[in-house]
Amino acid sequence: MEQTFIMIKPDGVQRGLVGEIIKRFENKGFYLKGLKMVTVERSFAEKHYEDLAAKPFFPGLVDYIISGPVVAMVWEGKGVVLTGRKIIGATNPAESAPGTIRGDYAIVVGRNIIHGSDAVESARKEIALWFPEGISGWQSSAHSWIY
Ligand code: ADP
Ligand code: MG
Repeated sequence: MEQTFIMIKPDGVQRGLVGEIIKRFENKGFYLKGLKMVTVERSFAEKHYEDLAAKPFFPGLVDYIISGPVVAMVWEGKGVVLTGRKIIGATNPAESAPGTIRGDYAIVVGRNIIHGSDAVESARKEIALWFPEGISGWQSSAHSWIY
């Protein structure tokens, strides 16, 4: 079953949006397979965002991600990578549709409260980076009510 990596960024944690964000993924029917609160080192944040290293906003992005604890999660379900991106909304909250997480709770791109993997392959890499210890293999008995 498909999995994605979702991270509630330091602003999402400090604004008290952890429960609201988890609720949206749970309500949809996706399964929470991994969860931890961590404050990451600069080198770790740089690795997570290595594809963006050449961008002018990269140093500020890294400062933002290491500024406080984040909530790192693995969510599972059919099409969860793409659907997760839809639940999150467009990168720039000025363009995120109302009803999406960024559309409802964020204003500027530099403080957009949440990360979600953009493809199945990047999800695999990000889950391996953030959860080297592995994640739970539990299976929901509600599965047959959702699919
Ligand atoms: P997404 O998080 O939607 O996948 P990107 O991968 O393009 O977006 O960018 C990663 C993160 O970098 C964004 O979520 C945002 O926090 C930050 N970011 C992107 N573009 C800008 C920008 N123009 N100025 C400041 N921060 C940005
Ligand atoms: Mg991205």
